[in-house]
Amino acid sequence: MVSGSEKDRRMEPSYLTAHACFRCRRSFKMKYDPEVFYRKCPRCGDWALDLGRNFKPPKSSDKAQWAKVEFLVQHGFVFQKIYREADGGFLQVRYPETLAEAKEFVEHYADQAWNVPPPPPNDEPAA
Ligand SMILES: [Zn+2]
Repeated sequence: MVSGSEKDRRMEPSYLTAHACFRCRRSFKMKYDPEVFYRKCPRCGDWALDLGRNFKPPKSSDKAQWAKVEFLVQHGFVFQKIYREADGGFLQVRYPETLAEAKEFVEHYADQAWNVPPPPPNDEPAA
């Protein structure tokens, strides 16, 4: 559990989140901005998507796991917290482990999907 003071510090404007580049299959810590979904990948220059601080990147060689992540993103799941109803309250749901599970997950929790904008054109300067 994150303590209050630690959480406050992490919410400073300068805090860093994981930005995933699907071309490189790598994640880079870059500056968080609630208005900015994409930043330029420092490795290949393609767009890297902000997946927040909960995202744990798979190994770059693990194509199956990256395919799962890309599938989730395409369906509006960018590692935001997802909840299910339980015992009259809400419990946070774990993200799926496999692509097969992800296919059920995106259908089941479709009402919690985010409207993730597509990447900007590649010739646009980085935000
Ligand atoms: Zn890249």
